[in-house]
Amino acid sequence: MDKELEGQVALVTGGSRGIGLGISRSLAEAGARVAVIGRNADRAREAAASLPGTGHEGFACDVSDPEAAKALVSDVEASIGAVNILVNNAGITRDNILLRLKDEHWNEVLATNLSGAFHMIRAVTRGMMKRREGVIVNVSSVVGLIGNAGQANYAASKAGLHGLTKSVAKELASRNVRCNAVAPGFITTDMTAELNEQQVADLQSQIPLGRFGAPPDVAHVVRFLAGPGAGYITGQILAVDGGMVM
Ligand code: NAD
Repeated sequence: MDKELEGQVALVTGGSRGIGLGISRSLAEAGARVAVIGRNADRAREAAASLPGTGHEGFACDVSDPEAAKALVSDVEASIGAVNILVNNAGITRDNILLRLKDEHWNEVLATNLSGAFHMIRAVTRGMMKRREGVIVNVSSVVGLIGNAGQANYAASKAGLHGLTKSVAKELASRNVRCNAVAPGFITTDMTAELNEQQVADLQSQIPLGRFGAPPDVAHVVRFLAGPGAGYITGQILAVDGGMVM
């Protein structure tokens, strides 16, 4: 494949494992220098060192902290270069039925999944607007499209990301900054590792392609959305879910 992202700098939040690591790898394969962001600096550095190519670096940041997000973008720009591609992938779940859902767990999920993306977008926007180019990809979930019992906080955060994606796309299109979201279905990572065999079998029966996805299934779509082949696509929510939601 072409190295269509040669010379570009990509910042991937939650990039040290799971889907985020798959995305970091895909963007590195496309030639980008990748800033891998995780909550743990050692793991982020280890992940960056495992990527193909050179110029990648790992950084620690809690994206739910607006000041930390701002400082992170300055650090990345000082050490690797101006951010051309932002992938908001960091996300958490704190599942429970409504009546047992604690304020703390509602707030934590919204703070990371939705406010975290906002903090990162705001921190890269000035530079992207000035340079009149940039790409933002938000990793949401099909749960943000269809809801899910036991995940009111998570579904609200992901549906919120859809509104954020479309608003950012409209606001920044005139500056040649594109913003899209991928909405994964069930992907095999630490996040889905807690499901038991019966739950996996039940879920698989609802997926037309009959299987869970793997991180590269999502990563290839993010690579496409980040690249020139998607130059006329903005404000879209693309489900990567084996046909679950259609
Ligand atoms: P994961 O738990 O394996 O990885 C999540 C990553 O986010 C980790 O690297 C973690 O360190 C990072 N992170 C969490 N909170 C953070 C914070 N406050 N600041 C910075 N980094 C933080 O999960 P995954 O399955 O790879 O999920 C990645 C994304 O894909 C998430 O946004 C998730 O909601 C979404 N998603 C996953 C699935 C799935 O089936 N696995 C389905 C739909 C959507």
